[in-house]
Amino acid sequence: MRPVFVVPVAVLLVGFLGVAAQERVDHDVFWKIRQEGTNNSSVLHTVHQFSDVYSPRLTGSPQLKAAGDWAIEQMHAWGMKNGHLEPWDFGRPGWTNERLAAHIVSPVKDALVAEVLAWTPGTNGVLRGPAVSITLPQGVTRAALDAHLDTLKPTVKGAMVLVGAPRQVPVTFNQPALRREDAEVVTQMAPATPAAARGGGPAPQAQAAQAQAATPAADRPLTAAQIDNAFNAFLVAQGAHVRINDAGRDHGQIRAFNNRTYDPALSPPTVVMRNEDYGRIWRLLNGAPSSARPPGGAAAPVVTRGVELEFEIVNRLHPEGRTAYNVVAEIPGTDKADEVVMLGGHLDSWHAGTGATDNAIGCAVMMEAARILTAIGVKPRRTIRVALWTGEEQGLFGSQAYVREHFGTVEEPKPAHAKFAGYFNIDSGTGRARGLTVFGPAEAATILREAIAPLADLGLLGATSTTSRARGSTDHSSFNWAGLPGINVLQDPIEYQTYTWHTNLDTYERIVEDDAKKSAMAIAAAVYHLAMREEMLPRLSGEAMPRRPAGN
Ligand SMILES: [Zn+2]
Repeated sequence: MRPVFVVPVAVLLVGFLGVAAQERVDHDVFWKIRQEGTNNSSVLHTVHQFSDVYSPRLTGSPQLKAAGDWAIEQMHAWGMKNGHLEPWDFGRPGWTNERLAAHIVSPVKDALVAEVLAWTPGTNGVLRGPAVSITLPQGVTRAALDAHLDTLKPTVKGAMVLVGAPRQVPVTFNQPALRREDAEVVTQMAPATPAAARGGGPAPQAQAAQAQAATPAADRPLTAAQIDNAFNAFLVAQGAHVRINDAGRDHGQIRAFNNRTYDPALSPPTVVMRNEDYGRIWRLLNGAPSSARPPGGAAAPVVTRGVELEFEIVNRLHPEGRTAYNVVAEIPGTDKADEVVMLGGHLDSWHAGTGATDNAIGCAVMMEAARILTAIGVKPRRTIRVALWTGEEQGLFGSQAYVREHFGTVEEPKPAHAKFAGYFNIDSGTGRARGLTVFGPAEAATILREAIAPLADLGLLGATSTTSRARGSTDHSSFNWAGLPGINVLQDPIEYQTYTWHTNLDTYERIVEDDAKKSAMAIAAAVYHLAMREEMLPRLSGEAMPRRPAGN
C-alpha cells in the first residue's frame, strides 16, 4: 500500500499561490459544467466509435477519414457549428493491413503472434520457407556492409529472416505508479524558476555532424537507419519471403510502426513478432543461452534444423490518402468572435491496436468538453474551436499544416496570429488531467493556475510555463513553434507507457471512464475561462521570444 497523502490539496494550492487569486472565475458556469459532465457524459460512446468502429486510423486510411466524418456529424448533432474537414498534403498513399496469418509449421505446428509493419508489401498469397537468423554488423562502411551481405546471399532467398537477437526482457518487479502523487504534481506546477541560460557552442549532435562531414563519404560508418535500409533493399533483391523483427517487449506487447521509406517497393513483407514467439524461433535456430543448457559440460548448443514458417499478409494502398484531413468544429463567439480558443488532440493512430488511448480518448475528452459547453448553453465571447489532427504519428504533420495555413509564425504572422487565445492539447492516454504547461511568460501560467484552482478536486492541480519552441512530442508544439500559446495537458500515467502506447494492447478495454470525464470537465472550465476573460493570455514579447529552432 502506498503512503496516504494527508495534506489537503487546497492547503497546498494556497501555499503555492501565496496571494489571493486575481482571476474572476464564473462559479455558476463551472457548476453547470460539473453537472453536465457527470450526468450526461458522451466520452465512452465517442471512444467506442473511434476505436471499435473506425480503426485502426492510420493517416491516409479510409477509416481515419470516416472517423473524421463521424466526428463532424456528431459535433453538429450536439449543436456545434462550422464542422468541416480541412485537407493537407500527406504526399504518400494511405496503407492498411487486411489480413495476417503467421504460423510455425516445422518442427512443430503453432500460431505465431505478430503485427505487420505499416507501408510494407503483402505476401501475395501464402508463403512458406525456412527461418534464418541474421545479426547485422553496426557502425560499418558501405563497402564492409556490402561484403558482409554478399556472404548472406545463399541464405536469404525464399527465407523467413529474423533480424537481430531477441531482446532479453526481464520480469518487472517494481511496477511504476499508475497515478501521480498530488504533492509531486503541485511541486512540478508551481511558479517556474527561471530556466537556465542556454550554454554557448554547438550541440553534441552538431559536433558529431561536423566530424562526419570531415570524413570522406566512403570511409564514413553508416548509421543504423542506413544499414537497415540497405538490408531491406538486399532482402528485396535476393527474394527473401518475409522480414521478422523482434517486438522486444513483455507480455506479448507489440509496437509496430512503419517502413521508414513509406515505399512498399523498398521493403520486403515485414512483421514485428511478439518477443515470446521470436525468442522461441531464435532459440530453435541458435540454441538456448549457455545458462539454459544442461550441466556437465554440454557446451554445444542444440540447433534445430528445418524450422519452417508460413505467412499470409494482405495489405492495401489507398492513393486518395495522399490528401489527409484535419477535423474542425466550433462554438461561435460573440463580441470577440474573431479571437479563438482551441482545444484538440490527434485522431490518427498506429495500427497494431485500435488507438483507444492514443488518442481516441484524447479526442473524446476534447469533444466532450465542447459538448458540455454547448449543452449548458454558454455564449462564449471568443470562438471555441475543436481540432482533431491527423498525421501526428508521422511527425505532427496535420497540426503543422494547420498552424502554417491559419496563423503563420511570430516571425511571419498571418492576421489570425494576433487573435489566437490558446490551444489545449491532450495526448497522454486515459489518465486524468493533472496540470497544464503553457508556452509563454510565467504570467500566462499564473492565469491558468488561478482559473483552474476551483477544479482541484477533479485532479487538475496547477499550471506552469515553458519557453521552448522545439517541435516534438505532440501537437501543442506546432503552436509553440509558431510562438503561439500551446497548452499541453499533463496526465496520470495509468498504463500508457507500460502497456498501451503504440501497442497491440491499445484498445477500448484500457479506458478509465471516470478519469476521462474529469479531464473533460476540467478542460471545459479552463477553455471557457480563456474564452471569457477580458484579455487574451499574455505572450512572450520582443527579445523574450526565443528564436525559431533551426532545421524544423
Ligand atoms: Zn498520440
